[in-house]
Amino acid sequence: MNLLDYDIFAFQWPVYSDYELVRHKGAAGNLLSPKIRVSGNKKRLYNPLTVPGLHRSFSALSNNAEDILGFIKTYGLIGIDPKSESVDDIIKCKKELSGVLKVIDINFEFSRKLKKIAKERIEEGKGSLGDTNMPIKIVANLFNTWAQKYLNQIEIKLVPFDRKGQSVITYQVYPKTLLAAFWILSMRELSGYRFKCCEFCGKPFSIGEGGARVDKSTCSVKCRKNLSLRS
Ligand SMILES: [Zn+2]
Repeated sequence: MNLLDYDIFAFQWPVYSDYELVRHKGAAGNLLSPKIRVSGNKKRLYNPLTVPGLHRSFSALSNNAEDILGFIKTYGLIGIDPKSESVDDIIKCKKELSGVLKVIDINFEFSRKLKKIAKERIEEGKGSLGDTNMPIKIVANLFNTWAQKYLNQIEIKLVPFDRKGQSVITYQVYPKTLLAAFWILSMRELSGYRFKCCEFCGKPFSIGEGGARVDKSTCSVKCRKNLSLRS
């Protein structure tokens, strides 16, 4: 489903060689929310938009500080602050994203059922149900409202591009934070790049167009067997 001959999403996000969990006390001796801060000097860059279902992996994390630290050690801080972020703030962002992903899932499921009923009605000669894509369109509209909040974290730049030997000017979309990249990845699900987390190992896998069946619940045969052994 590549409409363009170049990648419109250009994004490099830093991951430092190490991060640590810092627990500190408030003035009254009470324990404050732990922070995760950069503790290594070395830095590598990667493109989060090319990691399959990264937004799903983030939203499926537990609220445990160690689990969140593990994610950040692999993918970097989420972009609230370049050097140190509070675990509570990260959990808040995670909750918001999970809510959005749930709305996407429910609406796709609703749309799927609606399509099935519409097909049966036509087969029975009862007439059409009209636009069965309506639930998805409603979510797309909702997204436009949510997106406003993250627009200042997304930049569009004009860049020179070589198209078959001809130099042209084109645009590229730069998320400025990992969080903004999660939002782009979530929005892309509406256009068919859908992901689901495996019910056994938690790893995201592609579903729908070009991926697994939408009602599949595990990423592999191994996980399906393990899941049936567990229940
Ligand atoms: Zn799995």
